[in-house]
Amino acid sequence: MNNKILFNKTKVIATIGPASNAKPMLKKLILAGADVFRLNFSHGTHQDHEKVIALIRELNKELDTNIAILQDLQGPKIRLNMVEDGCIIKDGGKLIITTEDVPGNASKVGTTYKALPNDVKKGETILVDDGKIELLVESVKANEVHTKVIHGGALKSKKGINLPYSNVSAPSLTPKDIKDLEFGIAHDVDWIALSFVRDPLDIVDLKMRIEAANKDIRVVAKIEKPEAVKKIDAIIDATDAIMVARGDLGVEIEMEDVPMIQKQIIARCNTMAKPVIVATQMLESMIENARPTRAETNDVANSVIDGADAVMLSAETAAGKFPVLAVESMNKIITSVEANYESIYYKYNAPNPESPDFYPSSLVQSSVRLSHDTGAHVIAGMTWSGFTAWKLSAHRPKANIFIFTGNKKLLSMISLLWGVRAFYFDSNASTDETIEKVEQILKKEGHLVSGDAYITMASMPIKKKYRTNMLKINVAG
Ligand code: PEP
Repeated sequence: MNNKILFNKTKVIATIGPASNAKPMLKKLILAGADVFRLNFSHGTHQDHEKVIALIRELNKELDTNIAILQDLQGPKIRLNMVEDGCIIKDGGKLIITTEDVPGNASKVGTTYKALPNDVKKGETILVDDGKIELLVESVKANEVHTKVIHGGALKSKKGINLPYSNVSAPSLTPKDIKDLEFGIAHDVDWIALSFVRDPLDIVDLKMRIEAANKDIRVVAKIEKPEAVKKIDAIIDATDAIMVARGDLGVEIEMEDVPMIQKQIIARCNTMAKPVIVATQMLESMIENARPTRAETNDVANSVIDGADAVMLSAETAAGKFPVLAVESMNKIITSVEANYESIYYKYNAPNPESPDFYPSSLVQSSVRLSHDTGAHVIAGMTWSGFTAWKLSAHRPKANIFIFTGNKKLLSMISLLWGVRAFYFDSNASTDETIEKVEQILKKEGHLVSGDAYITMASMPIKKKYRTNMLKINVAG
């Protein structure tokens, strides 16, 4: 693969939208150092997403990159229906939210969520448009919720509704999600993120559907509900990766609690060897401006310091004026932290002796210790299942991690993992020959020079595709 583009460890996810869905812009974003493209299924048609997927795959071939595709399912997001232009609601006024199909105005507006009158009670809060509008439920009728406007403002079509203190009865996968999931599975995306996860069973359900389709697509649980925060360990256990989805999380819980929850979730994910993404408003001002604010710069830096595997851009790249600069800025911040903050490296989380993977996990940990003790700056792992990539990444070695695999599906998927770069390598050769070839590739790509120490991990015999069971230190010839 083309590893010369950039060599940061922390990955950058760029959300694709109208500002970035043309091929020349996608190419620029890759060259600026984006690792994963997120397709947000809250917006756009299947036709739109299909075009972008084809372009990403074309570019991966042309540029010899492994950019991953992350499909983000909307989940049980509740929204307003259409509202007439220029509609303002005033503090102290009244607003009815109805499940009937009405043209929305400043006194009555429709919602996509038919169960709303069943789910809210008198005295509960309804937040609209990321909490910009706050409503208090005064009474509930069969098809209507009558509210008092606590904080008014511009009421806009299709804006999101959050019910921070209500039990939302909607299923975790809505009929729209199920159609979108079929699309994602058919197009073999690398990752599927589920919004508004409330229970580990939401993830189990999604994984079972993917498995039933006989696909290896990994799952991201988006943490944006208080219920999910309460069950975080079980959700981390059930999922392949976590996203701290601060946009909705900051509306569903008190905004001031988000920073500590973010830190706690990252720490748990690091300990449990699950990749974690920090998302939303990271460089928000870059939607309009060519430079981020100092506070945003600190936010990205602190997420890297906390131990995020990836940081995500949303509207900055999907709809902003400076998508390329946003990716570049994020990468510059990452480069600076990674060069200057040693504490992000070497997070040895002890392998569990009870686990069936105890031996291979211990071996991976030893390889990271060995790289530390010898100063070897490359660890090359051969893997089919991806196990070595996941485990190496979780220990956060300072050495560069190169994964050689004949499993094509893995190549782009593992682009999300901290520090991991993949090479396609289809060889039935012996372990000795394989190591020789790996050395040749790494030298050719400029990652090793003669005399460099480097570490290799593989399973022997190589053809059997066992979990990793061999660790070797080599000196490049
Ligand atoms: C979020 O809420 O932070 C998030 C990432 O989800 P979405 O962009 O789908 O609202």
